[in-house]
Amino acid sequence: MLDRDNDLTAWDRDHFFHPSTHMGAHARGDTPTRVMAGGEGVFITDKAGKRSLDAFAGLYCVNVGYGRTEIAEAISKQAHELAYYHAYVGHGTEASITLAQMIIERAPAHMSRVYFGLSGSDANETNIKLIWYYNNILGRPEKKKIISRWRGYHGSGVMTGSLTGLALFHAHFDLPRAPILHTEAPYYFRREDRGQTEEQFSAHCAARLEEMILAVGPDTIAAFIGEPILGTGGIVPPPAGYWAAIQAVLKKYDILLVADEVVTGFGRLGTMFGSDHYGMEPDLITIAKGLTSAYAPLSGSIVSDRMWQVLVQGSDEFGPIGHGWTYSAHPICAAAGVANLKLIDELGLVANARSTGAMFRAGLAEALAGHRNVGEVRGDGLMAAVEFVEDKDDRRFFDPARKIGPAVSAALLERGVIGRAMPQGDILGFAPPLCLTEAEAETVIAATASAVKAVLG
Ligand code: PMP
Repeated sequence: MLDRDNDLTAWDRDHFFHPSTHMGAHARGDTPTRVMAGGEGVFITDKAGKRSLDAFAGLYCVNVGYGRTEIAEAISKQAHELAYYHAYVGHGTEASITLAQMIIERAPAHMSRVYFGLSGSDANETNIKLIWYYNNILGRPEKKKIISRWRGYHGSGVMTGSLTGLALFHAHFDLPRAPILHTEAPYYFRREDRGQTEEQFSAHCAARLEEMILAVGPDTIAAFIGEPILGTGGIVPPPAGYWAAIQAVLKKYDILLVADEVVTGFGRLGTMFGSDHYGMEPDLITIAKGLTSAYAPLSGSIVSDRMWQVLVQGSDEFGPIGHGWTYSAHPICAAAGVANLKLIDELGLVANARSTGAMFRAGLAEALAGHRNVGEVRGDGLMAAVEFVEDKDDRRFFDPARKIGPAVSAALLERGVIGRAMPQGDILGFAPPLCLTEAEAETVIAATASAVKAVLG
């Protein structure tokens, strides 16, 4: 008889090429295979029956929580009625058109149209192409460079992996590629001058940006891309005044702003969009994850009125846009998106992200207050991070070989809670489903305090 569990593990090791995984260690069996099987609310269960409170919502995407029958039924209904038709040359479905309408209703006031993709990476790829196309329409063929930030995360493709500002995503892939440049991250905790206020540090970041623009030539810089709050790079909120200072520089040199809201779109910061929260006025907004709560893969590039007007005008000269994905506006994914956005409204999840988020972050900070190895507890809305340091006073890093971040995350998992060891630095991240209750938040806080004590004393 087949031993299915053992077979699954063997098949996994032999045939499944996992993303973001140490290939050799996994193939040898040095790292575990965890076969996920079910989910309900903030909890997921694996095939062995172990239940965990998922305080990272998958990859900060399962915003409405697991097991929502409303979304499952919408997917099923659409699959039965019409599983697929393309969106080329003016085709759509009730689901995709309704979803476009719902997105623009929720987006900041000056946005106009949405171009659908499947992943955050491909949506940023679309953004880069739209930016180049836009400047070609305007007769500015030299204005093509895009500035991103160290520690930014914008995807894993060739161009989007270049936008990403994390060494792990560049090394051994010959990235970043031109014409992508990186400027300083707004990482207040790691500022060199400890005497700087947040506002002063924001002004410093804006000055560094302006220096870069002037050094390479403003006429060659097309756009700046940033997450409203840095996500994968360590869950780092912008210091006070940061976006105002950056936007003043961008306006001065006629540089477009792309707000990558793959993580922050649809409620995570306690507002529908992070741009609203931080006073950003982007020309393009990237959305993905929270658009469907990951019940189906779907992303989008939201285009501002200002940019749309130029694109439309250019189309009379350029003809139909030579950019399309087979699965753009896939009806099943769009149906999931419509059901998901309705659920976010009905359950009041944006407000819950704000209130439970505030309670969660305050509780976490209090539980870890005074610990010599906790350099900072930070976050916004329902995003939080704990940064571990060898010494709180001089912010000294731990020797990376000690893998403190992964060790705390593993200790947390033993206590039934999933938090994420962020890929750069000893940083434990949280981004739970937006339906997290205060009682569940207490569970995460208590488990984290216990895990930190177990690893660091
Ligand atoms: N942008 C941001 C801000 C992200 O966090 C991510 C994924 N974590 C992406 C883009 C890329 O999305 P995907 O993995 O769906 O390609």
